[in-house]
Amino acid sequence: MARTHRSGERPLVPDLDVLVLGGGCAGLALALRLADAGGGAPRTHVVEARARYEDDRTWCFWSAAPHRFEGLIAASWNAFGVGHEGQLERYDCSATPYQMLPSLPYYEYALARIEQSDRVTLDLQVRVEGDPVREGDRWAVPTDHGVLRARHVVDTRPPAALPQAVLWQSFLGRVVRTAEPRFDAEAATLMDFTAPSSRGVQFTYVLPISDREALVETTVFGAQALGEADLTQDLDAALERLTPETSRSITRSEYGLLPMGLTARPTPKPWVQAGLFHGGARPSTGYAFQRIQTWAEACAEALLDGAPPLPAARDTALRRSMDAVFLRVLRSEPERGPALLSRLFFAAPTDRVIRFLSDVGSTADALAVVRSLPPGPFLRAVGAALLQTPQREVG
Ligand SMILES: Cc1cc2nc3c(=O)[nH]c(=O)nc-3n(C[C@H](O)[C@H](O)[C@H](O)COP(=O)(O)OP(=O)(O)OC[C@H]3O[C@@H](n4cnc5c(N)ncnc54)[C@H](O)[C@@H]3O)c2cc1C
Repeated sequence: MARTHRSGERPLVPDLDVLVLGGGCAGLALALRLADAGGGAPRTHVVEARARYEDDRTWCFWSAAPHRFEGLIAASWNAFGVGHEGQLERYDCSATPYQMLPSLPYYEYALARIEQSDRVTLDLQVRVEGDPVREGDRWAVPTDHGVLRARHVVDTRPPAALPQAVLWQSFLGRVVRTAEPRFDAEAATLMDFTAPSSRGVQFTYVLPISDREALVETTVFGAQALGEADLTQDLDAALERLTPETSRSITRSEYGLLPMGLTARPTPKPWVQAGLFHGGARPSTGYAFQRIQTWAEACAEALLDGAPPLPAARDTALRRSMDAVFLRVLRSEPERGPALLSRLFFAAPTDRVIRFLSDVGSTADALAVVRSLPPGPFLRAVGAALLQTPQREVG
């Protein structure tokens, strides 16, 4: 049952098996899978600080196989564009369509399943106010509504302070509606490098919902985390460029800041942490949605088997080292970023690149990606990594 609490009101929570801290993408992903298990699920409670769920983000991913959120997909593209030598090169992805899942239907879908469950509950407006403390065979978690106790804790809260990342992916997007058709609804634009920047690798990302409506984002892969205000001017310029000579209205905005490779492994905690900052985000892309679902599936399975919850699985050594070298190149030679990223798609078979970026690539896919990239900067990055360890990327 999803309940909203006013401050001072004490949530009524029975003896718990699992307490989930944070009911965003990861917390709900786990809760809904446990709710699916009906009466066999461990007694689970999710505490979430926000007062209500809003359409605060848009998840996109390549879909290699039918999935449980198919009915919530707002747009799906069989082609996408990436800037290459001043042109927008178009690639076919009909075998793995690029899909858009708005967050509000996802939240509502999960809440509806939790609502139907006798074993899984969720409280809004409950803020966790410190770290879990071991008390015998249980964890005690301080919240602004008192202490909650459970046998297992799954902590999906972001860290209180930003960790150090090799690069930050900062982005600001707006959903724009135009009076005249201005978008090609048949293809998403993954990276348009028309407006370069000295702050890192900057590109425009366009997700057309129709020929008159799109989510347009300005994204920077850079050493510094940028705020909304840092991106506003460039986003305005991109909107001007993409929708000339027509009236337009903005219906929604979203801002994100994703770590691309953490430079130090966070001090391990004796309880399970999950989500974006705990193995959720793929270092080289920041993509996290599908990885979080994969984690939730495995974690729910473990709990349903009576085992403790699981953290996210580590990436393979090959993937980790390729991502680390790639990020090192983008950080040390950002001016080469557009050429490198565009060449990745231009020179390697599209299906192999997509599989590699979606975490389902084989070694052959990884090698095809490696072959597509110029050896110079990558050998320099490998050399630098061997000579200087402190800037090591750990995922
Ligand atoms: C705007 C945006 C767009 C994105 N687009 C994509 C995309 O296209 N594809 C992709 O793969 N990934 C994308 N991501 C990255 C990633 O998928 C999301 O960030 C995802 O929401 C991460 O899930 P999470 O559960 O780790 O964090 P969140 O979804 O942020 O959930 C954490 C939850 O914890 C709650 N919380 C925090 N502190 C407390 C506390 N003290 N007590 C109780 N609750 C607390 C928060 O309110 C929040 O609900 C995007 C991210 C953003 C921000």
